[in-house]
Amino acid sequence: MIVGVLKEPVPETRVSVLAEAVSAWVKKGWEVWVEPGAGLSAFCTDEAYLQAGASIKPASSILASANVILSINLPSGVPAAGSVLIGMYQARQHRESLEPLIASGVSVFSMELLPRTTRAQSMDVLSSQANIAGYKAVLLAANTYGRYFPMFMTAAGSIPPAKILILGAGVAGLQAIATARRLGAVVEVFDTRPAVKEEVMSLGGRFVEVEGAADSAGAGGYAVEQTEEYKRKQQARIAESVAKSDILITTAQIPGRQAPILVTHEMLDSMRTGSVIIDLAASTGGNTPETRNNETVSYKGVTIIGDSNLPATMPSDASKLYGKNIQNFLNLLVDKDGVIQVDVDDDLVKGTRVVPGLFA
Ligand code: NAD
Repeated sequence: MIVGVLKEPVPETRVSVLAEAVSAWVKKGWEVWVEPGAGLSAFCTDEAYLQAGASIKPASSILASANVILSINLPSGVPAAGSVLIGMYQARQHRESLEPLIASGVSVFSMELLPRTTRAQSMDVLSSQANIAGYKAVLLAANTYGRYFPMFMTAAGSIPPAKILILGAGVAGLQAIATARRLGAVVEVFDTRPAVKEEVMSLGGRFVEVEGAADSAGAGGYAVEQTEEYKRKQQARIAESVAKSDILITTAQIPGRQAPILVTHEMLDSMRTGSVIIDLAASTGGNTPETRNNETVSYKGVTIIGDSNLPATMPSDASKLYGKNIQNFLNLLVDKDGVIQVDVDDDLVKGTRVVPGLFA
């Protein structure tokens, strides 16, 4: 059994596994081949991989001979037929690149498709990376904002605490609440799923209530499209909170669809100069009409940051957690004798496998 670890294309800074995962696999008797410099941006040197028992091999050898090939982004080369390719390929958006790979006999698993079930938690790359994005979003906001987050009463005068509104209390939103509270900000939170109210409150956030949300119970915990009446009520309630906020962290996404516009031009106009918006939904269009993916925009004195790869700004921990997710997922695909067994009856294997016509 040979596991290959590819170097990611620029500007990615993460690597699919650090040296610590390599030693676990080497102990099992597997060979691990790592492309030169694969871990450098995540502070894992070739020497660290070698010490963990890996071999350093060129990408061409990995693509030609590894049984399992790991990357985060789509590789530029084509793996050999019969191999297994695992990454976070955003399969919905990259069908054209993935279908020829599958047709050539490569089994592709795209980890963002993993069902969000309890058994899947230890393999859930969306959660491990979103947690970092939520944390980093608050730090980025604090760094960009020209005022304090905590309240201060000093001899030179008093500083009120920053008011933060977080739209969407998924994994990133919940981490953003915890981080913003640790920095002393006052936090309001809105989500269409009323089920998150208790979690928000337990982290010290205030939950903004809007009656009449569509039931998302059948959508695997994800948000669903809402009725026009609900959207109107929601907009009015969000508008009140936006006008009072200094910082907005927006995270609202709906899988496979454009992100909803939750913050309209009118709402942006109501924000005071110097306010900051971190839009974590930028890659799917953003939650404001002014968001640009991977760009910072200034709109009437409000800074809107649409950075969709915040986990890559913490490459070491992001790679460590991603690698642990992959280690756990590989336990489903490889038996104790080191033989790949793709069990298509396993809901996690089936849910993550990219097959022709998956999104037709
Ligand atoms: P996400 O990134 O898909 O969305 C972020 C949040 O935005 C969600 O809470 C969503 O409800 C909210 N949202 C969507 N549209 C909105 C709107 N119009 N207005 C306000 N908020 C809106 O979310 P996620 O972090 O990936 O989590 C999705 C679900 O999966 C959650 O229920 C979460 O608890 C669940 N989950 C399960 C597991 C697991 O069991 N393996 C792991 C992580 C998350």
